Amino acid sequence: MTRRPASVRIVATGGTIAGAAPSPRDTSGYRAGALPAAALLADLPLQDDIRLDARQLASLDSKDALPELWQMLARELAQAQSDPGVDGVVLTHGTDTLEETAWFLHLTLALAKPLVITGAMRPATAISADGPMNLLQAVQVAACPWAARHGVVAVLNGRVHHARHLRKAHTHRVDAFDSGEAGAAGFVQDGYVGWLSPPRRRPLRFPPDTPLAPVDILFDYPGISTSMVDAVLRAGARGLVWAGYGNGSISGRIEPLLREAGRRGLAIVRATRTGAGRVAHPGTGDFIQAAGLDPYKARIALMLALGAGTPPAALQALFDTLSYE
Ligand code: ASP
Repeated sequence: MTRRPASVRIVATGGTIAGAAPSPRDTSGYRAGALPAAALLADLPLQDDIRLDARQLASLDSKDALPELWQMLARELAQAQSDPGVDGVVLTHGTDTLEETAWFLHLTLALAKPLVITGAMRPATAISADGPMNLLQAVQVAACPWAARHGVVAVLNGRVHHARHLRKAHTHRVDAFDSGEAGAAGFVQDGYVGWLSPPRRRPLRFPPDTPLAPVDILFDYPGISTSMVDAVLRAGARGLVWAGYGNGSISGRIEPLLREAGRRGLAIVRATRTGAGRVAHPGTGDFIQAAGLDPYKARIALMLALGAGTPPAALQALFDTLSYE
């Protein structure tokens, strides 16, 4: 029996992978999102066992992506999940906020089929552009049904990363993405998809239409001004992620302000600015501990949790669970 080719849908949103510069020498003076999806697919050297169709949902530089884009993508991608003509989806996206979009989608979509996000560090017009190989390898992962068991994954520079651990860790190298201490979830080599980690458990999910509560992030630093913190506390967000020192420590001058804001009802999550490691302060009830989530992922988790009406007493357990998503 011959199998029908796998149908992979490309959902394009812009980014450097669709960027164009005046010269092939330019790797930073370009316009992101300048080229349509059709141009990215035109010369892709696909095998016969994969068919593509493409939808252009946005043409953005992802520095301008807003939470409304995440929600719009979640609706579109939920629809693709239930489309019998689609076996897997590749989302093309700018790299600047790719990790936020991937994490939001991971937390909101039930995946029966692979969802792979990719981008590029060099514009499509550059000599040695990385976009075509990233796109080809993302398509190869999206055509592999096993990938759905890993939740949302990113494919960049030959490696597969879980949305849970993915982060942009360099300003310009093509090898800009990593998964921190967790390490990559897998790799792609000439169409072979190799997995280095077990599938994700994914015990917790929010509905894609969950309203998003406003949440800010503040970073601690020596000499941080109390009036700046005060201004943020009064600005009306429902939650705050405090990216503190080390194990989430808070400058002594600031801690009373935060405790007071917490008593008035602001949900405050203590994360770390170190870039790695778990934040845990057992027995200190005034703050929620981010556990293993970095400040950016903690913010999205808190936006969803507050928007979904999670009671304050349940927030710590939720962060502990999401740490293992
Ligand atoms: N500023 C670009 C973007 O995020 C960077 C990239 O895609 O690499 O859209």
